[in-house]
Amino acid sequence: MQSIDLHAHTTASDGSLTPTELIALAAEIGLRAVAVTDHDTVDGLAEALEAARSLSLECVPGIELSIAYHPGKLHLLGYFIDHSHPGLCERLRVLKENRARRNERMIAKMQALGLPITLEEVAAEAGSETLGRPHMALALAKKGIVASVQEAFDRYLADGALAHVPKEKIALEEGIALIREAGGLAFVAHPHTLKLADDALPAELLRLREMGVDGMECYYSQYDPARILQFLQMAREAGLLASGGSDFHGAAKPHVRLGCVDGDRPAPLALLAAMKERRAERYGLPVSGSSAQTVRPSHASLSCASAPPSC
Ligand code: AMP
Ligand code: FE
Ligand code: FE
Ligand code: ZN
Repeated sequence: MQSIDLHAHTTASDGSLTPTELIALAAEIGLRAVAVTDHDTVDGLAEALEAARSLSLECVPGIELSIAYHPGKLHLLGYFIDHSHPGLCERLRVLKENRARRNERMIAKMQALGLPITLEEVAAEAGSETLGRPHMALALAKKGIVASVQEAFDRYLADGALAHVPKEKIALEEGIALIREAGGLAFVAHPHTLKLADDALPAELLRLREMGVDGMECYYSQYDPARILQFLQMAREAGLLASGGSDFHGAAKPHVRLGCVDGDRPAPLALLAAMKERRAERYGLPVSGSSAQTVRPSHASLSCASAPPSC
C-alpha cells in the first residue's frame, strides 16, 4: 500500500532529525508523503520542502499548535499552510518571544529557591531545539540538583510546581483562523489527549467542526485497530475528515517509528487525497495528486500489504 505520515517533528522543534534528514528517511522507507508538523513553528518548512523537491516524495507543509484547552491537551495540526504568511509568522514570532520570557522567569524562580542554575546551562541542553522545561530538567539532573528528570518535574517544573510559570497558549478560535488565513486545513491531533470520555467526545467533535476544524487524527502510533476504527467512525459522524501520522520525534521518542501507525502499519494515501479535495473546495484550487476516496471505517482500510522497512 502506498503510505503517508502526516505528523512528524524535526530539530525546528523537539525532533532529533533535521528537516533534510527527516525527508531523506521518509524517502528511504518509501513514503509517498510526509507532513512536517513542528510545535508552534514553521522554521523547518523551507528546508524540508527544498529537500523533497528532488525526490518522489511529497512534503506537506504543516504545524502543530498548542491550544489553550481543558480538561486535557488540544494540539491543532495545520496542513498545507503557507509558511511565509505574514500574519502566521508574526504570531509565531510573538509566541517564541513569550516562551523566552517564560524560560527566564522560571529560571529566576529556581534561583530564588536557591538552586544554582543558569540560562546558559539550560540552553546547553537544548542544542538547536526550542528551549523549554525538558532542558531545564536535564540541566538540573546534570548538576546533581535532582536525581532524575522526573524528579525535576515533580519538584520544580510540573504544572503548579514550585518554579512553574504557565506557557502562553493560543486560543482555539485564533489557532483555526491562523491556519485558515495561511491557506491550511485544521485537524485535531491525537484526540485521546483531549481527555474526554468516549461518550462526551462526539458532542465535542461537533462543536469543534462548527468552529471550523476540518478533521481529526484517527491513525496514530499509539492507537490499536479498534481505537482507529472508533475514531474513524466518530470523525465520519461529526462530519470531520480523518488524518494519520506517527508523531515521529526521532531519538527523542525512540519507540515511535516514522511511517508507522497502529504498531507496524502505515496510514493510507486516501486520507491525503480527501484532504486535498477539501482544500481545493475551500480555497478554489485545482485538486492535485490522486483522486479522493472515502475512507470507510473497516478493517479493509487498515490492512497493509507491505509495511515500510523501518516498521
Ligand atoms: P514546555 O513546552 O516547556 O512547557 O515543555 C513541555 C514538555 O515538558 C512536554 O512535552 C513534556 O515532554 C514535558 N513535561 C511536561 N510536564 C511533565 C511532567 N509532569 N513530567 C514529565 N515531563 C513533563
Ligand atoms: Fe513534541
Ligand atoms: Fe502533539
Ligand atoms: Zn506532535
